Amino acid sequence: MRKLQIPRFQLSNIWIILGLAIAGLALGIFIDIQSQRATATDTLPPLKTHPLPATLARWEDETESGDYFEEVEVSEAGYLIWSQFPIKVYIELPAGSDRSREWAETVAGAVREWGAYLPIEIVERKALRAEERSPLGDIVIINKQPPISLDNMVARSAEARYEFDLEEIDNREILSHHFVIWLSPTQRGKYLSAAVRHEFGHALGIWGHSNDETDVMYYSQVRSPPPISARDINTLKRIYQQPTRLGWEFVGE
Ligand SMILES: [Zn+2]
Repeated sequence: MRKLQIPRFQLSNIWIILGLAIAGLALGIFIDIQSQRATATDTLPPLKTHPLPATLARWEDETESGDYFEEVEVSEAGYLIWSQFPIKVYIELPAGSDRSREWAETVAGAVREWGAYLPIEIVERKALRAEERSPLGDIVIINKQPPISLDNMVARSAEARYEFDLEEIDNREILSHHFVIWLSPTQRGKYLSAAVRHEFGHALGIWGHSNDETDVMYYSQVRSPPPISARDINTLKRIYQQPTRLGWEFVGE
């Protein structure tokens, strides 16, 4: 895991990027985490806890499998918690053939598996209005090789990154975030599903990895990808009980 500072951000309009990305978590053998962070914190919203979403409040693990909460990294904005539901997911349909539709369906199927635990809506681009939270969705999934950056020269098969935004809701300025997930077009079938399940777990806020290969958030790709585990959900539930600056109003000067 690495962190690097980026210069102070600039505010220009509603969709200003507030503090550029914190980064990417990748699946497979490429496990390092890039991290960029904004340096200005003076007017950021205070850390506060959101109400636990009903879907997670209902979750009880009868197997008492534990969690890997201590592996989850905290961003400068606190835990990467969504507080406006449903979380809007846009899946970019790659140009062309039936195969691309099949790809998008596989991706959507894996995304929906998380829908039992947090409210998720897969949206069409044109259904989104300009004033909605993001022009593309809270989480955008792209059929492209993850970009290679200066501090990460290794080609990855899948990666999730996030950026902070300043969002206006009812004339209040809210700190929010959005995610982009890149998936290499070469991935198919159960490995594609596994990659989506894993990266989407990062996008829901599990910003870290499990050391147990029966968890979706295990740090490496495995031969027989597991379904979402009780430990994955126990971890997710603990995250959503933590304070965050995301979803809260900026402090006036
Ligand atoms: Zn990962």
